[in-house]
Amino acid sequence: MVPLSRRTRTDVVVIGAGLAGLNAALHLQEGGARVQVLEARDQVGGRVHSMRQLGHSQEAGGTYIGAGYDRITSVCARVGIELVDVSPMLAFFREQDLVLGGELIRQSEWPEHPRNVFPDTFKDQMPWTLHRTLAVQDNPLPGPERWLDPEFAAHDVSVRSWLMGLGLDESAVRLAYDLNPSFGDHAGDVSVLLLFFRAAFSIAQRRSAPDGVLGYTVKNGVQRIPEAMAKLLEHDVHFGKIVTAITTNGHRAEVHCAGGAVYVAPHVVCALPVGVLRDLSIDPEPRASQLEAIRSVGSQPVTQMYFGHASRFWNEDGHAASIFTDGPAGMLAAARNGGHPEEVTSFTAWIMGPNAKQLDRLPERDAASIVLEAIEQARPASAGNLEYLGRKAWSRDPFARGAWTYYKPGQISRFAAKIGQPHGRIQFCGEHLSRNVRGMEGAMESGERSARAILTE
Ligand SMILES: Cc1cc2nc3c(=O)[nH]c(=O)nc-3n(C[C@H](O)[C@H](O)[C@H](O)COP(=O)(O)OP(=O)(O)OC[C@H]3O[C@@H](n4cnc5c(N)ncnc54)[C@H](O)[C@@H]3O)c2cc1C
Repeated sequence: MVPLSRRTRTDVVVIGAGLAGLNAALHLQEGGARVQVLEARDQVGGRVHSMRQLGHSQEAGGTYIGAGYDRITSVCARVGIELVDVSPMLAFFREQDLVLGGELIRQSEWPEHPRNVFPDTFKDQMPWTLHRTLAVQDNPLPGPERWLDPEFAAHDVSVRSWLMGLGLDESAVRLAYDLNPSFGDHAGDVSVLLLFFRAAFSIAQRRSAPDGVLGYTVKNGVQRIPEAMAKLLEHDVHFGKIVTAITTNGHRAEVHCAGGAVYVAPHVVCALPVGVLRDLSIDPEPRASQLEAIRSVGSQPVTQMYFGHASRFWNEDGHAASIFTDGPAGMLAAARNGGHPEEVTSFTAWIMGPNAKQLDRLPERDAASIVLEAIEQARPASAGNLEYLGRKAWSRDPFARGAWTYYKPGQISRFAAKIGQPHGRIQFCGEHLSRNVRGMEGAMESGERSARAILTE
């Protein structure tokens, strides 16, 4: 029995001070509820995480704010956060050369290159663009909001079978998807319906963009957004509260934290990432189908390593500053966070899927040496010019357990409707429960939805 003095009573306990939890809390507060937000870390933002110690507005999590992110842009307008137009930078992101089997290949050489095993009609596509281009061209969704419509369940099949249906053979599929996958380990591990949703969302974002503006970010760090949201709360976020269990009965819920604190309320909003939710004890347990969904959807391994540079080595070898590799360095992207888009401020190696898993098992220094060596081998001009600054390994983060959710083939039809079902006094929200939009805007949308469900009860 927990002593009464360790119990805090409120109307709603919100677990997790990421964008979903904070947006739920703000909507509930505006609806007249007394809200207490609990956060395991000593800061808000979760997967919006600015690496301020590295300078140059370097981000580890959400960075790009689509021009049609209405919820995010209106929060920014409300709290006076100025958005920076990233359109001039985006053109440079297309400048990227390819490294395959240790060979550095220019984009201009790729269509005729012997390693290009794409069918003739696709030979002008780079390995990182082909599946994205096809997900736009072959997209059955009239809009992103339709991706969960049973009408499209027939597309809940693997990316591999979809690409093979479009005429790619096994080696072309590997080249088109498996090199540094943003969802899953390989093309057989992810539903193409998810790629269609992402593509339909990007199209909708571009349509709603004001003339010439493709998207935004925030000067001095995107984390300023959740920080400003937390300041709007009447009751300060309680930090260092690692929630371990929720018990509910017909009228109220108890939220138990490591260390013994207990919060009691008629309603709980659980805004934890799905990878963390798996280990949370909920009594009584959710239905078996919901538990199965929570335990089986994927959480994408993504590790970012940050490098400073001593010289403009890309001028020396004449290749693009950024490279996309088939090795442990993943995609080495030149960051352009300075005053002018041409200025390269640092480099980030984006390592996804199986390579991230392997590196995450190693001590940080060993993992960094492997990546640095892979870059230097592919690009001798960079040798001695890159300095390792640090990393963010999302799967190793006990409060994230992965960067974002992905669905394996068949899981969207089986799980999407079940994974976020309210359970007793608990509403669930978070990026994994985005319905019509994605990313940061999706997290905001899901928080808003769970607040509305409580306020209209
Ligand atoms: C590398 C990366 C790049 C991205 N890039 C973009 C982008 O460019 N554009 C875009 O729109 N989106 C992007 N996203 C996605 C976007 O950042 C997320 O969708 C969004 O921030 C998720 O918000 P959330 O509130 O659902 O989850 P989170 O932000 O993860 O919030 C969950 C909160 O719960 C807390 N928590 C965890 N466990 C406990 C516990 N036991 N007890 C109490 N609290 C706990 C966490 O600390 C965290 O604060 C990116 C994400 C990553 C990781």
